[in-house]
Amino acid sequence: MINKERILATFMELVTTDSATKQEGKIAALLQQKLEAMGFTVEFDDAGKKIGGEVGNLIAKLPGNAGKKPLLLCSHMDRVTPGFGIKPVIRDGVIYSDGSTILASDDCTGLSAILEGIQTAIEQNLPRPDIEVVFTIAEEGGLNGSKNLDYSRLKATEAYVIDSSTPVGSLITKAPAQTKFTYRIVGKAAHGGVAPEKGINALYVAAAAISKMKLGRIDHETTANIGLASGGTATNAVLETFEMKGDARSLVVEKMNAQVEHMNQVMEETCAQFGARLEKDVQFSYGSVNLQPGNEALERASAAVRRIGMEPTYAATGGGADANLFNTKGIAATDLGCGYNNPHGLDEYQPISELEKIGDLVVALIEEYASLG
Ligand SMILES: [Zn+2]
Repeated sequence: MINKERILATFMELVTTDSATKQEGKIAALLQQKLEAMGFTVEFDDAGKKIGGEVGNLIAKLPGNAGKKPLLLCSHMDRVTPGFGIKPVIRDGVIYSDGSTILASDDCTGLSAILEGIQTAIEQNLPRPDIEVVFTIAEEGGLNGSKNLDYSRLKATEAYVIDSSTPVGSLITKAPAQTKFTYRIVGKAAHGGVAPEKGINALYVAAAAISKMKLGRIDHETTANIGLASGGTATNAVLETFEMKGDARSLVVEKMNAQVEHMNQVMEETCAQFGARLEKDVQFSYGSVNLQPGNEALERASAAVRRIGMEPTYAATGGGADANLFNTKGIAATDLGCGYNNPHGLDEYQPISELEKIGDLVVALIEEYASLG
């Protein structure tokens, strides 16, 4: 279906265009130019201003000629470091970096597939729905682009995020919601040898609280973890302040909230019992992806996978992606596998066959939406 030479050339052009989180200006300008050449109207929201980035999320629209439901396609423009000066090399049908940088197939594969799929549909005069494209900023390190996306500019109620390292044909149906927490216990300093009874050891408070807390695997869809802990100034001082950070996750937001409530309560009660002060910072990060069989967005993606001659597979992930934010905002979104490997590593690589397949899958999604009455 797609033009294989062109999708590879686009991929090479994108990965060799420097980009980083909050430094997406250069690649955004290139993507804007390519979308406008296809007839899209392109605008940027003010997410960049909100988070101190060079540019906002790119939002592009192209009116269609068939189907009533708009199709929303999303990938992200930033990449992890080191992602400047990438020199891609091809060996045996696979694209690698030269080993001194990442490859940035995460997520130039998604960007290339969206551009090529749409270009193909236009060139071949295929019926197509209204298409909305969102290229986010600052996906890496906290989904800050999609958290600050201006959702009021979007019409679509279903979205496909092309950004999963799973093979083409796999659909991410489950990804947990997340809440991050910081608990800072402030006890009372005293000399550990001379007058320990005059102090309140914040670490002992933490230990007492943790011993009463449900942590780790809470149930088959809920987890909680304390991953950072620090405190203390000297071996002979009663430890005055102790801080711990972690997150709670669940496929069911209510279960996550219940877990957070449980931890807050244990912390508050235990601190009160010891006479320590609790400073807590608890932040909801994003909701979950939890698409059940029969979900229309999922059914359409499955139908598109079958259109390219494959059988869809369904996968769960423990991490967050832009799809979490779309679902949080009421847009049913699934993350599509694009077959890149070892993302964020210097050994990241992208098989060309997978790059071509995900391009074909974008064409198939366009056809699927155009076929909807
Ligand atoms: Zn990514």
